[in-house]
Amino acid sequence: MELIFEISKPGRSAADVPASDVPAINIENAIGKKYLRGDLDLPEVAEIDLIRHYTNLSRRNFGVDLGFYPLGSCTMKYNPKVNENVAVLPGFTGLHPYADDEFAQGNLQLIYEMQKCLSNIFGMAEFTLQPAAGAHGELTGVMMIKKYFEKKGQKRRVILIPDAAHGTNPASGALCGFDTVELRSNSEGGVDIEHLQSLMTDDVAALMLTNPNTLGLFERNIEKVAQIVHGRGGLLYGDGANANAFLGKTRPGDLGFDVIQLNLHKTFSTPHGGGGPGSGPVGVGKALIDFLPVPRIIKKDSGYDWSEDHPKNRDGETSYLPIPHINLKDSTYAWSSDFPDSIGRVRSFYGNFNVIVKAYTYIRSLGAEGLKRATEMAVLNANYIKEKLKPYFDLPYDRICMHECVFSGNRQVAQSGVHTSDIAKRLIDYGYHPPTIYFPLIVHEAIMIEPTETESKETLDTFCGAMIAIAKEAKENPDGVKNAPLTTPVSRLDEVLAARKPDVCWKKS
Ligand SMILES: *Cc1c(COP(=O)(O)O)cnc(C)c1O
Repeated sequence: MELIFEISKPGRSAADVPASDVPAINIENAIGKKYLRGDLDLPEVAEIDLIRHYTNLSRRNFGVDLGFYPLGSCTMKYNPKVNENVAVLPGFTGLHPYADDEFAQGNLQLIYEMQKCLSNIFGMAEFTLQPAAGAHGELTGVMMIKKYFEKKGQKRRVILIPDAAHGTNPASGALCGFDTVELRSNSEGGVDIEHLQSLMTDDVAALMLTNPNTLGLFERNIEKVAQIVHGRGGLLYGDGANANAFLGKTRPGDLGFDVIQLNLHKTFSTPHGGGGPGSGPVGVGKALIDFLPVPRIIKKDSGYDWSEDHPKNRDGETSYLPIPHINLKDSTYAWSSDFPDSIGRVRSFYGNFNVIVKAYTYIRSLGAEGLKRATEMAVLNANYIKEKLKPYFDLPYDRICMHECVFSGNRQVAQSGVHTSDIAKRLIDYGYHPPTIYFPLIVHEAIMIEPTETESKETLDTFCGAMIAIAKEAKENPDGVKNAPLTTPVSRLDEVLAARKPDVCWKKS
């Protein structure tokens, strides 16, 4: 396919603007030549070429609206369209972020209610919706942990991170100046309690734990883990990226977590991938409330104070259209930065508001029972896949999983030199987005499958059929699998070269 620059022809345009009705000036004299549009290599195309170009591009993309997308740890669930219908309401899209509180009451109420919903669902005292993604939420959480110990006058330098953790966990710890120390998993795929006991000193600020962890396994000793960390004055951080596994079943606050981040774009069905916006709310227990980012939303119970002006018209008659005025002081919801121990702002404005609206819509349309049912179906679907594929792929931790299951391609490597990456590429030929591969790092040749609750039994069956067919191909025709994908516009790309020496510039030939 050609680049849009390559179909460009001088003088073509997709825009038709009326003739200017202001006097022309010499722009070169006014602002200097380097800013002239004509000097930029911008494509010039007619509307039909523009539409065809991007429509064709979109047809080469893959999304959850197109097919099964079992990308482990990413929760690529279907995003109900009602979320979009609500998020485009003009009151949500049209409000200026600097509008005074009195003109933003509806939107502030939504933010406030979303915080309350999340606090209830996760058993935390309070939430902030400011962070823009999960990793950003982690950073926010660790900044609060740091401030908590500063305030206590304790110098703790270490954060413990299990060997199964997502890479953003040690990154968040390191960004805040902590030393990160790896905590081993036991043979069951849980925290090695003895190792935790030996590492947990007065120098440890926190343990960052994902539960269920990235093996898709629930931490059976979670209460013991919390007790050990708290026993030495440390805090328990929860990476909530896997929250789709326990909605309505258990609450991190009740399990002993002091702070957690969520990924609304995963658990609460707002579209993600492709660099789209995310939202990474952070929930805290009582110990960390004072350190939450500002501004925080506060609810005043005095209610609206409406007064009405009744302007008179030219004839001295009172207008029948009174102008309402809401008294700001008594407005129900307001932003406040009056929290002296806060870590400050972590993002401009108030987070990715539009994503929050979608996630709020999802929560309100499913309700408490619906969320619980979603979790039950997500766990059932993952276990169904696990059991169906178990005879064909190695399963390093063979126990009931939560919302995702992790296989290993070791058997295929030993049999015929077919690697997990080959299996993933071959799945593309069968019409599926590949699962997450080579993560978590503690599983060799990892294949991490997360089906989510929104997929039917038929979809799971045909996907498992494809995986089983590939396992057979790997035995009988390994070269075919090693050359996959065979049905795509390009086959194997040099991923290392693409990452090390990205060529993102178009050069005029
Ligand atoms: C996705 C994920 C993150 C990071 O979240 P982003 O929203 O992508 O920044 C952190 N931890 C785990 C376990 C994840 O799956």
